[in-house]
Amino acid sequence: MKNIAVIGAGTMGNGIAHTFAQKGFKVQLIDISQESLNRGIATITKNLDRMIKKEVISEADKEETLGNITTFTDIKEGVEYAQLVVEAATENVPLKLNIFKELDEVCGEDTVLATNTSSISITQIAAATKASRQDKVIGMHFMNPVPIMKLVEIIRGYNTSDQVTNTIMELSKTLGKVPVEVNDYPGFVANRILMPMINESIETLYNGVAGVQEIDTVMKLGMAHPMGPLQLADFIGLDVCLSILNVMYEGFKNPKYAPCPLLVNMVTAGKLGIKSGEGFYDYAESRKAEKIATQFA
Ligand code: NAD
Repeated sequence: MKNIAVIGAGTMGNGIAHTFAQKGFKVQLIDISQESLNRGIATITKNLDRMIKKEVISEADKEETLGNITTFTDIKEGVEYAQLVVEAATENVPLKLNIFKELDEVCGEDTVLATNTSSISITQIAAATKASRQDKVIGMHFMNPVPIMKLVEIIRGYNTSDQVTNTIMELSKTLGKVPVEVNDYPGFVANRILMPMINESIETLYNGVAGVQEIDTVMKLGMAHPMGPLQLADFIGLDVCLSILNVMYEGFKNPKYAPCPLLVNMVTAGKLGIKSGEGFYDYAESRKAEKIATQFA
């Protein structure tokens, strides 16, 4: 595989494009919004500059990486030569089903279709494609920030073939990542374990057991977590946490995944964490938010 199309140039899409391009792949970065594409390329450039400063890469590496990325606003044009498509568009079921239906129609017969979804069933996404494509649909769940985080959760849908799974596992290794193969059940592995912990920390706050700083300090210093669960929730986005918990709650029909009412209220009130300027912490000064993101990186 040499030509990779990435759909969505947001937080994850630009990180995925960056990671492939830095390893010499030709990347077609596609987004419906030209503004998102511009922002995505600006973010990649900023992150490459940071790597030069840290002496991880050279100026020539930066130019080569940027030279490997071409941008498109039209899916059909962007995927023309792609052997692999990694979809990282907005987390929304009908939107992803539409994208996969279109990809199935416009991609070559052998093109593998991967999704970076955090929680939507791979089997459900694959079902939007024709029966002969479903063995080539797979979850490729990168972690944020993609250029830095080593893990890729590789999720096998009900019909994903061994051959496609092995190809994507090997490809992830060539990116310098550590792939872990898991099966397709709500939350997969990463979020099935992480989200109940985040939800329980919100519940602990909601019950008045301790304050935000106290809860995060207990988990950082007591459990050696690099970031407290409430700070991590702000970083992920409280709306994203709520949506993943709802997928697990509905998928398992088990009340242990029911989102804490405080989380529901905060999302309804528009307190989404770093991206909205306020969550469990106040990020009114953008410098503060950046400091926390860098600290995590
Ligand atoms: P984001 O909102 O930052 O970016 C989404 C991008 O998709 C936007 O630029 C939007 O313009 C584009 N888009 C929307 N509809 C499109 C379409 N039809 N065609 C092409 N582009 C389209 O979102 P994100 O945080 O990057 O999340 C993307 C995916 O990655 C989601 O499935 C999410 O669950 C998953 N994910 C997110 C994180 C995280 O920490 N943010 C971590 C792992 C996985």
